[in-house]
Amino acid sequence: MSNATNALQGTAPGHELGMVICKHCQQVMFTIPTNGVKKIYGVCGQDGCLETVGENEVED
Ligand SMILES: [Zn+2]
Repeated sequence: MSNATNALQGTAPGHELGMVICKHCQQVMFTIPTNGVKKIYGVCGQDGCLETVGENEVED
């Protein structure tokens, strides 16, 4: 019964098409397996990026 949990992890390596990108510095933080290429915006955690959390977004 050692392979009972493998059904949940049948995704082959290299299928990580979802990119989590810092919306402030555009740095790719990590990738996640998704169906198709997707960009998900988050905050990377650097000081310069964290300071703007909760503030109005600046677009320039
Ligand atoms: Zn950042």
